[in-house]
Amino acid sequence: MKYIGAHVSAAGGVENAPINAHKIGATAFAFFTKNQRQWVAAPLTQKSIEEFKENCQKYGFTPKQILPHDSYLINLGHPEKEPLAKSRAAFLDEMQRCEQLGIDRLNFHPGSHLKKVNIDTCLRTISDSINIALDQTKGVIAVIENTAGQGTNLGHTFEQIAQIIHYVEDKSRVGVCIDTCHSFTAGYNLSTEQGFKETFNHFQNTIGFKYLKGMHLNDSKKPHGSRVDRHDSIGIGHIGEEPFKLLMKDSRFDNIPLILETPNPDIWAEEIKMLRSWEK
Ligand SMILES: [Zn+2]
Ligand SMILES: [Zn+2]
Repeated sequence: MKYIGAHVSAAGGVENAPINAHKIGATAFAFFTKNQRQWVAAPLTQKSIEEFKENCQKYGFTPKQILPHDSYLINLGHPEKEPLAKSRAAFLDEMQRCEQLGIDRLNFHPGSHLKKVNIDTCLRTISDSINIALDQTKGVIAVIENTAGQGTNLGHTFEQIAQIIHYVEDKSRVGVCIDTCHSFTAGYNLSTEQGFKETFNHFQNTIGFKYLKGMHLNDSKKPHGSRVDRHDSIGIGHIGEEPFKLLMKDSRFDNIPLILETPNPDIWAEEIKMLRSWEK
């Protein structure tokens, strides 16, 4: 079973996210549990939490169909003590929000070295940050997203992600989200049948599909290997339709949220329909 949706708005309260997802015919969704551009947010109200759960039940969204995304401000690999502490506190808050909402996974970008520490040190800091958050929460999987490798962002190779996972103590609570646009601009040429095969064979050999807890389905406005993160609507960017067709027929991508973060929300319903038509 393929669960397909988009990163929908939670404006007015998290309880609106499942409603917005249902409106576009989605069977999966992503959302922010708080304003993603602010460090601190008011706690979720009991009313919001209950309505979120009710709406998820009403529209048929179970935890494996939901992939919340954390704030863009958080850097779990920050090389400096104070900003790192701030990031860790904010990440814990995000994990706790997921706990409250009955969600079993939280998607985040691993972190950036800011040219102040070497890659290994930064990756180790990220693993430690994950361990700290897992120690203080229950039932929520920390889902590492691969990046385009823009600037000093780490997690643009499968090896780096494997290295982060290696130092996570509870392997049952760490996972991975693969973004097709990020993979492509980071250097994995999944745009052809051959490239798609090689990319995901490599993924299996370095990380393993057992860790795959979600996908971001995006085409790319930037060419292969450019290490720039600019999403495009499915089929009209540098990646093209081919890998999405392959993905929809591939059972390794079953039973996880497949999330569009494409730039035009007006066509999400159509993009979901198109993806579904490739399932058969
Ligand atoms: Zn993404
Ligand atoms: Zn992106």
